[in-house]
Amino acid sequence: MRLGIISALHEEQQGLVEAMHSPHKLMHGMREYFVGRLWKIDAVCVLSRIGKVAAAMTATTLVEKFGVTHILFTGVAGAGDAGIRVGDIVVAESLVQHDMDASPLFPRYEVPLTGLTQFPTDSSMALELANAAARFLDNELAGTIDAQERAVFALDAPRLHRGLIGSGDQFVNEREHVQSLSKALPGLLAVEMEGAAVAQVCFELGVPYGVLRTISDNANENAATDFMRFVKSVAARYAFCIVRQFCLGHQASKVSAGTSS
Ligand code: SAH
Repeated sequence: MRLGIISALHEEQQGLVEAMHSPHKLMHGMREYFVGRLWKIDAVCVLSRIGKVAAAMTATTLVEKFGVTHILFTGVAGAGDAGIRVGDIVVAESLVQHDMDASPLFPRYEVPLTGLTQFPTDSSMALELANAAARFLDNELAGTIDAQERAVFALDAPRLHRGLIGSGDQFVNEREHVQSLSKALPGLLAVEMEGAAVAQVCFELGVPYGVLRTISDNANENAATDFMRFVKSVAARYAFCIVRQFCLGHQASKVSAGTSS
């Protein structure tokens, strides 16, 4: 396995790059790619920047230039449903581009000429990610995020969800907008700006991928409040610990299966 790890925001990527064993940095297309070993996994870490085109460009480069065999996206997202709370974790089972509309030529949300409205993630990566996230919530959360930050963001027993994530080139910060998305896309758990673009690229190139999101806001008028504080003190730590759990878990499963990564 050569794992490409994409983060959308600098704060989320920093810890991973610092944890890399003998990384070397390569510039390509205005992005820095860090190649090295991360908890014994051959990895390439990169900041995609924000939005679908930025993410698609980064995912394509990871595959075509850096030869990654799997892609993992980590980031934050707005809640797509009233039952999802700030601090919860969403592991994508499938992703939809919620701003795609080539109707009436193609059905609403269908990505033209793919025949798909929802792109499924790789089921074994999704399972490994969910297991990693569950281990983090059960064993590491309390020791990782200090009590004051947990109180500020009311992180009271955060939960893990698996299902549909919607991506679009919009920061969703109006209650009516998120409500109409959730009505149009049953099962929508979270809204963000990159995942479904990575999904389309990976689908077209035949690369297994997974998407992990920490809920940073409720996608309503308060969405921008404390956004960066949450990213720094909560989401960056979630991402770091869950990626570590994912890498360690992946290594352990390979060892017990008697194969190498
Ligand atoms: N204020 C930030 C911009 C964040 S853009 C800055 O100045 O850097 C939002 C990022 O978080 C994107 O990567 C997106 O995927 C995710 N995100 C979090 N909440 C979101 C929401 N409510 N709507 C859309 N994207 C959201």
